[in-house]
Amino acid sequence: MASREPKLAVELRNLTKRYRKVQALKRISLQVQEGELFAYLGPNGSGKTTTIRILVGLTKATSGDAFLNGYHVERDSIHAKRQCGYVPQSLNLDHELTVEQNLDIHGRLFNMSRRKRKNRIAYLLHYIGLADRARSPVKELSGGMRRRVMIARALLHEPRILFLDEPTVGLDPAIRRKIWALIKRIQMDGTTIFLTTHYIEEAEFLADRVAFLSQGELITIGQPQDLMDSLGKWALDTVENEQMKTFYFRSQEEARQHASVHPGPFSIRRVNLEDVFISLTGRKVA
Ligand code: ADP
Repeated sequence: MASREPKLAVELRNLTKRYRKVQALKRISLQVQEGELFAYLGPNGSGKTTTIRILVGLTKATSGDAFLNGYHVERDSIHAKRQCGYVPQSLNLDHELTVEQNLDIHGRLFNMSRRKRKNRIAYLLHYIGLADRARSPVKELSGGMRRRVMIARALLHEPRILFLDEPTVGLDPAIRRKIWALIKRIQMDGTTIFLTTHYIEEAEFLADRVAFLSQGELITIGQPQDLMDSLGKWALDTVENEQMKTFYFRSQEEARQHASVHPGPFSIRRVNLEDVFISLTGRKVA
């Protein structure tokens, strides 16, 4: 079947998922353009993983439709699956096998020839900076290295869309930045990226656009800067009667003026995406 809308990498139409008593997704509709780096942001339990699992064919939607490069994820699942690579949140490499062996198994699952697997594995290990660890058992690698191997594995069959579920969870800040650089590079090399995160700064740093999810509902979607600008550029955090309250201003000067008449302790800082989320939901992301 031909792809219907080649410019749209990911499309959700009224996607709903119910697990027994839990309504995990409530009529989610969104589109991700080819080549975008899209961040799906929300607190734990908001439905991020469920969305990705539907998109990569690991669970079925209760209603609604999802497409990858125009292929319906259920009705045209073989084509849809070929479009994407998936890096789950939990580390699921075989720890006893070497890095190379872990990648090779994945290549076989995708029916890649022996020669193609060999070339592509060599290329990707170099790409992720682990060429010298090809023969190391995975159990000897650090958490950051394992995460990079999982990314290489997901890229092995040259997918056009890469799904990353909380790609830096549990990693220390320096390693997290290394993974960010790798993710950016993968996008620059032409792959569409759809990632979930509950780290605000990750979405702010990486994403062309972000969608906010809260309790299974899509709250807002847009470019990080536009979403932040809708509140203001500067935030004044104040404490009064043990209650914290934040005010937003166009300029630092306005924030200072307001602070000067405020009786309690305060601090002035740049507006961030967390402010946007809190102002829309009354809750924090992380
Ligand atoms: P997130 O990825 O944002 O943390 P999830 O998609 O994992 O959120 O979960 C969304 C909601 O669905 C949560 O309330 C979670 O408990 C529930 N849920 C997720 N997977 C299952 C499952 N297999 N069975 C029952 N409930 C589930």
